[in-house]
Amino acid sequence: MADTTVMDKLVSLCKRRGFVFQSSEIYGGLGSVWDYGPLGVELKRNVKERWWRSMVHERDDIEGLDAAILMHPRVWEASGHVSGFTDPLVDCRQCKNRFRADDPRLKGTPGQPDAQCPVCGSRGTLTEPRLFNLMFKTFMGPVEEQAAVIYLRPETAQGIYVNYLNVLQGSRQRVPFGIAQVGKAFRNEITPGNFIFRTREFEQMEMQFFVKPGTDAEWFERWREWRMGWHHALGLSPAKLRWHEHGAGELAHYARAAYDIEYEFPFGWNEIEGIHNRGDFDLGRHQEHSGKKLEYFDQAANERYLPLIVETSAGADRVTLTVLVDAYREEQVEGETRVVLGFHPGVAPIKAAVLPLVKKDGMPELARRVYDDLRRRFKCFYDDSGAIGRRYRRMDEAGTPFCITIDGDTTTAQTVTVRHRDSMAQDRVGLDALAEFVARGVAG
Ligand code: ATP
Repeated sequence: MADTTVMDKLVSLCKRRGFVFQSSEIYGGLGSVWDYGPLGVELKRNVKERWWRSMVHERDDIEGLDAAILMHPRVWEASGHVSGFTDPLVDCRQCKNRFRADDPRLKGTPGQPDAQCPVCGSRGTLTEPRLFNLMFKTFMGPVEEQAAVIYLRPETAQGIYVNYLNVLQGSRQRVPFGIAQVGKAFRNEITPGNFIFRTREFEQMEMQFFVKPGTDAEWFERWREWRMGWHHALGLSPAKLRWHEHGAGELAHYARAAYDIEYEFPFGWNEIEGIHNRGDFDLGRHQEHSGKKLEYFDQAANERYLPLIVETSAGADRVTLTVLVDAYREEQVEGETRVVLGFHPGVAPIKAAVLPLVKKDGMPELARRVYDDLRRRFKCFYDDSGAIGRRYRRMDEAGTPFCITIDGDTTTAQTVTVRHRDSMAQDRVGLDALAEFVARGVAG
């Protein structure tokens, strides 16, 4: 199977089965904006919930936050986003550096094969110059004038920085501690594409960890380890995950160290999460621009300092795409191709399907009762149409780990058949033990 074919098949499966649709499709679609259908919204929610659980619920030293998308325009001056993205820009697709089109170091014509990147030296990797700001602009209030310009946030991190003292005071946390947030971000990307990999509207799962100067390198290493562990626990193939360290040319000027977690997509190795040691850049800039002291007072040591920040920043849509790509497989079963989304049961959109073997002999009524009981705890699906084999295949394509079949023995022996998605093996399980059986299967 050619690699591009895998993506084509996945995109078409996602549309057919209701994972992801192109935005405004009946109007011809909107470039690089996507909508999540019934299965996709469940999958992405599960990804986000696992992240939230591991960051906020399972730790004592991280608090959650939900900051607004609209922020004071001066936030983006302080962060460098306003000045950084308002000129004609040229991107290097190789090293991800961004240059002004009139940068004298650029050789050749950007967009053409002869052009050479002044940082990494690659040829043909520079995009054509484009005049725009990466941030989406709109107006606040009734008058559309320069003074009313406001931006859709291009990252969620700034909402965390500007609230760090509020959270610190309200939660009684002490440094080292972190703030986690999941939310929408918007970027008018120059080179969007690859389905939901790079989109103009997306969701980020970001955590900023505030540490005492001198301890940042140590925390940075811990966070690298924890984040890679999270992706493994999500069920992603470890052989398809690797680290990419930002070299001197790639590193943002303020960053002390930065690593990306990359996944091997059918279109190549690409970043799914960044872990950055951002030093005192963020709080320093906001302190300077707002004129408000953002120092932390360490009572025990009786000292004041500006905390340093270790950031972990992942895209919810990008991780969802990774989960889909990693799960997709085709198998030959009895001369037919079986398409399976072999999700980790914890992220699978539907945990169990309840299927009466035939539409008679009281089986649909009993199946409905089983379904109503299970759906109080898990996202389930009821299906009584078509041959049982076809119903199994439909659930394989949706990535449902368990198919529960109600048959003639269910009424007499009070047992059901549980068919496992991956092995296709079948177990006989008592009705009274069914919910616990599913719960054990989807845990972790
Ligand atoms: P890239 O180099 O791929 O554009 P980036 O280095 O600009 O990414 P960050 O600013 O570090 O990305 O954002 C952190 C995370 O947010 C990325 O690892 C990615 O998962 C996600 N992300 C960033 N931009 C997009 C986008 N346009 N669409 C979907 N997810 C995105």
